[in-house]
Amino acid sequence: MTKILDGKTLSLLIAEKLKVRISRLKQKPKIVIIQVGNKDESNAYIRNKLKFAEKIGAVAEHVRLAETVSEMSLLSHIEKLNRDKSVHGIIVQLPLPKQLDERVISQAVLPEKAVDGSAFFLPATTRGILTLLDHYKIPIAGKKAVVVGRSELVGKPTALALLNRDATVTVCHSKTKNIAKETKQADILVVAAGKPKLITAQHISKHQVVIDVGINMVNGKMVGDVDFEKVSKIVSAISPVPGGVGPMTVASLFENLLDAYALRK
Ligand code: NAP
Repeated sequence: MTKILDGKTLSLLIAEKLKVRISRLKQKPKIVIIQVGNKDESNAYIRNKLKFAEKIGAVAEHVRLAETVSEMSLLSHIEKLNRDKSVHGIIVQLPLPKQLDERVISQAVLPEKAVDGSAFFLPATTRGILTLLDHYKIPIAGKKAVVVGRSELVGKPTALALLNRDATVTVCHSKTKNIAKETKQADILVVAAGKPKLITAQHISKHQVVIDVGINMVNGKMVGDVDFEKVSKIVSAISPVPGGVGPMTVASLFENLLDAYALRK
């Protein structure tokens, strides 16, 4: 029987643990989420983060800046938060409007406070994927992992993290000639392309573990990059969308925040 890798339930377990840890702290860990503009998609992600913060007793502040904010002005906001000792984590919600260089802005956040990924912290999605695999006791070392997608935020750091856990890793992208040939070889297949039904029965073989990172809205419904209905009948384990990597990403962001808090102490 195919195992469903239930990120929703695991994220609630993590929330319980974080809540206990935070209840023992004198000062509450604080995260500031900077949003530029008012995109529906970003609003939804931010709402989830604020809800999670409330659940665990962390302080979360949502700063919304005008869509037209200049790079100078945003950088000076970040600088202020970098210096503010009561702030342990800072995230700038992506994507940013065109006048802002995402790389410049992301790099302006002090690495010790960049809880969505820096030299100190794994990106939340990558950490969430590893936690999900570990929770379900899926071995990584010595396994063949295939990652579809090579973004700076998800694909690359996840491939590197799996390599660091001693998997043999192949990374596929939009120029890969025969994706199915690669994906069929995987013991662990991670898909982060942002293309609904990119991975279907023909890309899959038995005994695989499939992690679907994709979040796509199709006819008002949230779906991943994997054709869940077909693929889940073949593989040994699969993470659903919604309820898989999404909630794990939020939980992992707050695990990073607690690590950032500990770093500062
Ligand atoms: P991205 O920056 O757009 O990158 C997509 C990657 O997929 C690129 O490397 C691209 O290749 C590759 N790709 C696109 N079409 C492909 C195809 N037909 N065949 C093979 N590779 C293809 O996206 P992202 O930020 O990594 O996000 C990916 C997906 O994950 C999105 O749906 C996003 O919403 C979702 N996401 C989910 C979470 C979560 O918590 N669950 C977190 C972050 C992102 P090239 O490099 O060649 O263009």
